[in-house]
Amino acid sequence: PGGFLEVITGPMFAGKTTELIKRIERQMFAKRKAAFFKPAMDSRYSKDEVVAHNGLRYEAFVIPTDEKGVERIVEITKRDGYEVIGVDEVQFFHISVVEALNRLADEGVYVIASGLNLDFKGDPFPVMRELLVRADNIVYLTAVCTVCGRPATRSQRLIDGKPAPRNSPVILVGGRESYEARCREHHLVP
Ligand code: ADP
Ligand code: MG
Repeated sequence: PGGFLEVITGPMFAGKTTELIKRIERQMFAKRKAAFFKPAMDSRYSKDEVVAHNGLRYEAFVIPTDEKGVERIVEITKRDGYEVIGVDEVQFFHISVVEALNRLADEGVYVIASGLNLDFKGDPFPVMRELLVRADNIVYLTAVCTVCGRPATRSQRLIDGKPAPRNSPVILVGGRESYEARCREHHLVP
């Protein structure tokens, strides 16, 4: 009873993690048993905390991104009896995460999943595509385009200050790269 699947999406810097933390915090204030999960690969800021760009942070279970990891999310949720779970950067998990979270919601868990809408090329992340159509509620956030100030829906990857080409590898080992929020017009993929 009370199960619900909520998906927070948008580009980088849209405030997805901030919104996830805010929503989970409210549940905690209401004495509901809640936990955060995040993929093991996302170690930009902290190993065992969900961290927003604005500095907000919360302790989290760090989970491998493969099918085994997805099973761990279900196991931990049931083992500890969490009524509410927040999953950050959900797009990095194996596609099996879609059915796993959908089923947890069926079984009464309030699931809030936060993740990127599109990759740096502007292509949908398969996990998000599948999760969004199953959601009971979607929170679609935008950032501010760093070029013109319009609402930004895309994440621009820059390598040494220039737009990353379409054929650049998904993960650049040691590459000097960064990301900026951009609108449709200023999102460039040479
Ligand atoms: P997300 O999880 O979507 O990447 P966060 O919640 O971690 O976003 O961070 C959002 C914060 O990023 C904003 O509150 C703001 O302080 C900061 N920020 C930096 N660059 C931008 C931008 N171009 N547009 C909007 N917010 C930005
Ligand atoms: Mg985030």
